[in-house]
Amino acid sequence: MPMISMKELYQDARARTYGVAAFDVINYETIAWAIEAAEAECMPVIIMLYPGMASHVHPAAVKAITEAMAAQTKVPVALHLDHSPSWEVAVKFMPYFPSVMVDGSSLPYEENVALTREVVKVAHTMGIVVEAELGHVGSGSNLDDFQNTDKFTDPQVAAQFIEATGCDSLAIAIGNGHGQYIATPQFDFARLRAIRAAVDVPLVLHGGSGTPDDQFSECVQCGMSKFNLFTEVNKRMGDAVKEQSQEVSGLLPILSRIKPAALEIMRHRIHILNPNGVKAF
Ligand SMILES: [Zn+2]
Repeated sequence: MPMISMKELYQDARARTYGVAAFDVINYETIAWAIEAAEAECMPVIIMLYPGMASHVHPAAVKAITEAMAAQTKVPVALHLDHSPSWEVAVKFMPYFPSVMVDGSSLPYEENVALTREVVKVAHTMGIVVEAELGHVGSGSNLDDFQNTDKFTDPQVAAQFIEATGCDSLAIAIGNGHGQYIATPQFDFARLRAIRAAVDVPLVLHGGSGTPDDQFSECVQCGMSKFNLFTEVNKRMGDAVKEQSQEVSGLLPILSRIKPAALEIMRHRIHILNPNGVKAF
C-alpha cells in the first residue's frame, strides 16, 4: 500500500490502543527488515532517519527506498525525521520527510517554544507535521538523566506548550533515556496518565531500547502511541555480524545471516506494542 500519513497512523493507533514502533534506519537492509518485521506482525511501522546519519545514507535514498518498499507491502508505513537540533536542520530535511521532529528540550522553556513554533510555521505551510519534545530525555547512561524528576515532563506545562507551539505530537520524559540504560528504568505512569489527560496530541517515547516489555505495554495502555528504537536493534545486528564473520567471509553472506536476528528483535518489540492483540491491518 502507499505510504500513510502520521496523522492517519496516530488516529488508528489511538482509536484501537496499540503503539507503533519507529526504527531509526541506517541503510537499505534496516528499512526493508523493519517493514518485513511489521508485515509479519500485521502492524504498521515508522521509518526514521536521524539527521546525523545523513552523511552515511542520503535522505533522498531513505525516502525513495521507503516509498518503494511500502508499495510492496500490505501494512502501513510512515516516514519521519528524528531529532532535528535546529530550525535549519528541520527545514533542510523537509523536502524528504512528511513528518519531522525538532528537539528544543535542552533549551530554556521559552526558547524551546520559540524554536518549535518557528519549525511548525514552516512545516504546516507544506503539510508537514511536527513532533516536539518537552521535559528532557537525556541519556540512559546517566542516572540523573532518567531518574531526576526535575527533567520529567509536567502535564500542565505540556498543555501550555502545545497551545503555544501548535506542534502535532509530543515526546515526553517519564523516566526514559536514550541509548543503553545503566539501570532498569522505572517509568512514571501516573505522570504519563496525567499528561495523556492534559493534552490531545499523540505522545511519543524516546529511548525505547532496553525498556522492560511490561513497561512498554503499560505505556500503550496509558495512551502512548510512538516508540523510538535504535540502540538495541543496532547492537543486536552488530553482535550478529561479529558472530557470523567467524563463520563466513564477505559482506553479502554476513548480511543474509544477520537478518533473522534483526527480524527477531524488531518483531518482538512490534508485538509487545500490541498488548490488546489488535489485528491492525
Ligand atoms: Zn530521541
